[in-house]
Amino acid sequence: MEAKSVYTFEDLKSWDTVTHGVTPPPRLCVFGDPVEHSLSPQLHNPALEASKIDAQYVRLHISAEEFDEAVRLLPALGFIGTNCTIPHKFAAIAAMDEVDDLARKLGVVNTVVCDEGKLVGFNSDGPGFLRAVREEFSVDVKDLRVMIIGAGGGAGRAVAVQCAVEDCERLVLVNRTHNKAKSVAKELEPYFESNRVLGAKKRLQACAFDDDALREQLDNTDLIVNATPIGMKRTAPELLPAHLIQPHHLAMDMIYSPLETNFLKAARNNGARTTNGLSMLLWQGVYSFEWWFNRDAPLDPMRAGLMAAVGE
Ligand code: NAP
Repeated sequence: MEAKSVYTFEDLKSWDTVTHGVTPPPRLCVFGDPVEHSLSPQLHNPALEASKIDAQYVRLHISAEEFDEAVRLLPALGFIGTNCTIPHKFAAIAAMDEVDDLARKLGVVNTVVCDEGKLVGFNSDGPGFLRAVREEFSVDVKDLRVMIIGAGGGAGRAVAVQCAVEDCERLVLVNRTHNKAKSVAKELEPYFESNRVLGAKKRLQACAFDDDALREQLDNTDLIVNATPIGMKRTAPELLPAHLIQPHHLAMDMIYSPLETNFLKAARNNGARTTNGLSMLLWQGVYSFEWWFNRDAPLDPMRAGLMAAVGE
């Protein structure tokens, strides 16, 4: 019997009955609300098949109210683990029995491992981002001056902390709600207290989300990261004025649908190098697989599954 496209909390409560006869047995999942759009099954199922692991990965529509009870059910039901997407990333950290050090620093859990009855939380946003930058631009974050737009959101904040942990050259935090950028900057101050001097500009700054402030910062930025949902719709407003993007910039959009947002198109037209969110998604999947199975993830089937899912 084939798995359903999306399971519910009610299904989870009668899991053995609901999934009786489903092969391979669903033992990995993503919790989200909404979750229908998640590409994680297309990323992980080819990896499970290639690794000859008798399990499949499914989507579970779990609301914020259902999350705690749902995640607690997983170990007894024989799950290997789960990923958590919107709106569960912040709630997940509180529901864990143990939290990996990096996930605790990043403040967000998005990968859960069921380990002998315990729930252990990890975060793949930061490591996936680092790896994507290295693979796509052949440079390490520690050597870059980074601007993160959406630094107060779940993924943006995690990536900001990861940049600080890496001791990147400069970090500029931009957020629609400016106070959130200021509070992340305040929290990250201890990472930038060294005597390292790189030009006249402060190494860590919260910047207002307006054209004049962005223009001033962009002259001293290498990597621009969009960690907002602006660009998911073709009719979306500009992320930043196109003329501010310069040929020396590296432009990364965490969005992968559409594959080329207006921000990336403007960057490409201005001679900048660009990458969309697929690479980060792929590398996040690789880290999750390795936490679940303690072995190398099969990269080629994962990449092929993802590309097929987005029609590339
Ligand atoms: P989130 O926690 O809801 O954060 C959203 C961020 O975007 C906040 O900083 C928010 O600012 C800002 N924002 C939202 N709407 C805005 C608007 N109209 N104008 C200006 N700023 C706006 O979401 P998230 O989980 O971090 O995800 C953010 C994006 O990254 C999504 O597009 C998601 O799909 C993508 N993502 C991709 C990957 C990947 O692997 N490629 C991984 C994670 C996330 P306020 O603080 O002012 O609300």
